[in-house]
Amino acid sequence: MTLLSVENLTVAFPGRRGTVNAIEDVSLSIEPGEILGMVGESGAGKSMTGAAIIGLIEPPGHIAKGRIVLEGERIDTKSPEQMRRIRGRRIGAIFQDPLTSLNPVLTVGDQLIETIQTHLKLPRAEARERAIDWLRRVGIPAPEARIDTYPHQYSGGMRQRVVIALALCAEPRLVIADEPTTALDVSVQAQIIALLRRLARETGVAVVLVTHDMGVIAETADRVAVMYAGRIVEVGAVADVLNAPNHPYTEGLMASIPRIGPRPEILPQIEGAMPRPHARPPGCAFAPRCPNRMDVCSEQRPELEGSAAAAVACHLKAEVPA
Ligand code: SF4
Repeated sequence: MTLLSVENLTVAFPGRRGTVNAIEDVSLSIEPGEILGMVGESGAGKSMTGAAIIGLIEPPGHIAKGRIVLEGERIDTKSPEQMRRIRGRRIGAIFQDPLTSLNPVLTVGDQLIETIQTHLKLPRAEARERAIDWLRRVGIPAPEARIDTYPHQYSGGMRQRVVIALALCAEPRLVIADEPTTALDVSVQAQIIALLRRLARETGVAVVLVTHDMGVIAETADRVAVMYAGRIVEVGAVADVLNAPNHPYTEGLMASIPRIGPRPEILPQIEGAMPRPHARPPGCAFAPRCPNRMDVCSEQRPELEGSAAAAVACHLKAEVPA
């Protein structure tokens, strides 16, 4: 069974200049054990999609259209209290800054034990054993001793490992990881990505990995959904999208991945800026920046066409080859 499906999701924010849609008509699905990357520039709507899935849209933002179904059960209509229970037990979360996920006045052990006890109803001694085991699994040295220390006693990379343990210790089926490596040193980023990938394989948890970095997607994800101006513009298997991107925006993102070569390259950038939600042009929102734009592009919005496995929203590609 599909683990999660998001269907025609629109998140709206009322404002002084009228209501704007942060994301529009976003549809995606994820299978058990799959890592789905969501990539795009800042403001494209990828974090908003993640926030909607875990029920953490900041009011007055709200789901204006569509639905979110987890393991056959609709969750976008749940109360905040019901969503709080679903978060943690069925959906874990990893955010960019580990300090936002960790309580500075509680030991790492207390936080893990509380989460395990809340969701798995285990006696404290057993929960503590599990917590030590999770610290070991995420690569914390001497976990029997470190379990009784505080978050500030850890480095940034080690703290993010603890956050990963916290997100997984209640054995959720799905984890939303929003820019999990962005706040970390470059040398640590690769280790955290490798850890996330290994744990996803070992536990069978599915991961929605939100990132602005196509390089992280290339290293980690099975499938990728590319977002631009609140919409998904391309989705497909990572290898296919990386080798042969179908959307001009994806091509631009690909060109900005650093490559190891004989000489340092100046990375090509996509010229221009993504339009703000209240200033999206009619037709294709990428048209002002697109090297391939045609007359139809500024008149008619391209819809996402294809299958769940491979689809693109671009007038250049009426159909994605199978
Ligand atoms: Fe470019 Fe037109 Fe495709 Fe938009 S629809 S990405 S403007 S070719």
